[in-house]
Amino acid sequence: MTRHYDLIAIGGGSGGLSVAERAARYGAKCAVVESGRLGGTCVNVGCVPKKVVWFGASIAHTLEDAAHYGFRLGETRFDWSALKASRDAYVQGINDWYHTYLSDSDIDEVVGTARFVDTGTIEVEGQRFTADHIVIAPGGAPLVPDTPGAELGITSDGFFALERLPRRVAVVGSGYIAVELAGMLNALGSDVTMLLRREHLLRNFDAMLRENLTEEMFGDGIDILARTQVREIAREADGSLCIECENGQRLEGFDELIWAIGRYPLTQALDLAAAGVNTDEQGYIPTDKFQQTNVDKVYAIGDVTGRAQLTPVAIAAGRRLADRLFGGMQDRHLSYENIPTVVFSHPPIGTVGLTESIARDRHGDSVKVYQTRFTAMYNALTERKQKTAMKLVTVGAREKVVGCHVIGPGADEMLQGFAVAIRMGASKQDLDDTVAIHPTSAEELVTMR
Ligand SMILES: Cc1cc2nc3c(=O)[nH]c(=O)nc-3n(C[C@H](O)[C@H](O)[C@H](O)COP(=O)(O)OP(=O)(O)OC[C@H]3O[C@@H](n4cnc5c(N)ncnc54)[C@H](O)[C@@H]3O)c2cc1C
Repeated sequence: MTRHYDLIAIGGGSGGLSVAERAARYGAKCAVVESGRLGGTCVNVGCVPKKVVWFGASIAHTLEDAAHYGFRLGETRFDWSALKASRDAYVQGINDWYHTYLSDSDIDEVVGTARFVDTGTIEVEGQRFTADHIVIAPGGAPLVPDTPGAELGITSDGFFALERLPRRVAVVGSGYIAVELAGMLNALGSDVTMLLRREHLLRNFDAMLRENLTEEMFGDGIDILARTQVREIAREADGSLCIECENGQRLEGFDELIWAIGRYPLTQALDLAAAGVNTDEQGYIPTDKFQQTNVDKVYAIGDVTGRAQLTPVAIAAGRRLADRLFGGMQDRHLSYENIPTVVFSHPPIGTVGLTESIARDRHGDSVKVYQTRFTAMYNALTERKQKTAMKLVTVGAREKVVGCHVIGPGADEMLQGFAVAIRMGASKQDLDDTVAIHPTSAEELVTMR
């Protein structure tokens, strides 16, 4: 027998869970189809386990600094398997919570891989389901290139499965995931080499952020090889990995190689053609501002749309879609402008709005930039001298703040409030008129000259 719903979400990750949860609150009968573990990428192999390891890595740095604050510590030893066990238990707890939460919210959980039969029907493990509204939220997976020997490497998914800390590791990639993995592994004791196909880390971020981060990562002992493309990977007789590069370099002695070169949308199993849903050349599903695909009553949210691939974006898009479909809010949609984001590097980066170079392309001479670079008070006593750097990008006579970029300890927690101000149209004067909180690094953002 075919079951009918008001809404079916394909994918039980950030997007699928939030659209169903909000729709159910309006009284809609919903189902979530999940082929893997509830919570999706973020909970299982993304934000959550990553942040746990990042906390561990930050403690490693704090232990280095402790002596300069008068602590006489004995020998410290890091136990990767203990951290992994605690992290996995924490993630398992979230998975369990989701199962209970779905049943408490009267949302049906359908286990298996969904594929379309037609625009209003899907099939999961031989069983058919129909719905008035179908939301496609299958997320994505890490890319592995077709380089010879690529299968000897792992991806971010494999990083979370590692049973021991690699002694020597190559991280291939230059995006935020590459930077985060390299920083965590280095802090916890691995010898890390990053291989960048092009010149810079974090290509799409403000130049000030990537320059400062590159300097900090070098300072922490990470080897960053620019313009170094992998040609082949081979396993040596001693079990280690050897990397042959296009530029003739031969890098030897790695325990692990991690591909962090991007992600692809998980649309292959969906048989989108059966519903007539279009994809772009990379497989992402284009939508209008209401998350509507080219097919009526079929929507796409989250990473599968290829836009701002972040958990809170998938959640916000899902909730707004449910508000519109079942909450009577006809124009409700997500604005993809001014989305704040953090890179959990060491030190972290917080950024929102336009980079200086995009602002100058768009607004020319009406752009005015305020910058500062300093050693935070915490680092006054420590041997490790991390720099904190900040940039405000403003536009026009009113000096409307259109970009705010921070790298330094605490940047991750600093940005959320400034993102609110920028979304509300704050000017430089509004920041200056705000009384500073002293002594903090954040106060520099309201006292910049
Ligand atoms: C290493 C890493 C670190 C990250 N860190 C951050 C961070 O710090 N902050 C942040 O905001 N974002 C972070 N992200 C990104 C974030 O995880 C994603 O943007 C977010 O999970 C996207 O949500 P989604 O709902 O689109 O997809 P997902 O969370 O990936 O959920 C999709 C779900 O659909 C299921 N599925 C796929 N196909 C089918 C099918 N045919 N039938 C049934 N089920 C299916 C999958 O199993 C999956 O569980 C990180 C990602 C990675 C990889």
